Amino acid sequence: MAFELPPLPYQMSDLEPFIDAQTVEIHYTKHHATYLKNLNTALDKFPELGNWSIESLLKGLDQIPEEIRVTVRNNGGGYYNHNLYWTNMGSKCGGEPTEPVSKAITDAFGDFTAFKAEFEKAGLGRLGSGYAWLSLKPDHSLIIHTTLNQDSPLMDGLTPLLVTDVWEHAYYLKYQNRRAEYLANWWNLVNWKEVERRYEAHV
Ligand code: MN
Repeated sequence: MAFELPPLPYQMSDLEPFIDAQTVEIHYTKHHATYLKNLNTALDKFPELGNWSIESLLKGLDQIPEEIRVTVRNNGGGYYNHNLYWTNMGSKCGGEPTEPVSKAITDAFGDFTAFKAEFEKAGLGRLGSGYAWLSLKPDHSLIIHTTLNQDSPLMDGLTPLLVTDVWEHAYYLKYQNRRAEYLANWWNLVNWKEVERRYEAHV
C-alpha cells in the first residue's frame, strides 16, 4: 500500500492574508507531493515494509534497509512533517488553547506569551532549513525544539503536537527573508483544537 497525499482541510486561499494561496499551492502540490512520491518509490523495492505506518518507519530507521534509509529519513520525514503542518493550521483559527493544553504550556513555559516568544525564537534560530516544534516528552511534559532538514521528533522519541515549517519555501514569496514576520503572523493560523486532539491522544 502506497502512502497518499492527505487532502488539505481547507481551500488554498483560506490561509490568507498570513500565508498566500500561491505559496500553499506550490508547497503542497510540489514540495509535499514530491516527498511523498520519493518515499513511495523507495518503498516499492521493499514490499516487506508495505504495512509499516509512517510513524513506525521514522521511529525505526535503524531497521530500514541501508539502501533506502537516508531516502526514508528525508522523504518520509518530509511527508510526515507536512501532514502535521497542514492539519495544525486553518482559517478562523489562532487564539489560545484551552485545558489541558493551556495548563501544560503554563507549567512548562510560564505563560502563553512566554511560550510564543520561546517558540518564535526557536524557529528564528533554526539555521538553514527545518522546523520548530512543540512536542511531548516521554514523561508527558512539553518541550520546544527544532529539527534540521526533514528530520522528525519521532526520530528522537518525542511526540509532535505543533509544528511550523521554517524552510524558505514556506514563506519566501510573501515574506522574502523576513522569517520573524512569518512566524509572528503564523499564530493567527494555529488550529489549537488539533493540537489538543493530539495531546489528549498521547497523554
Ligand atoms: Mn515545507
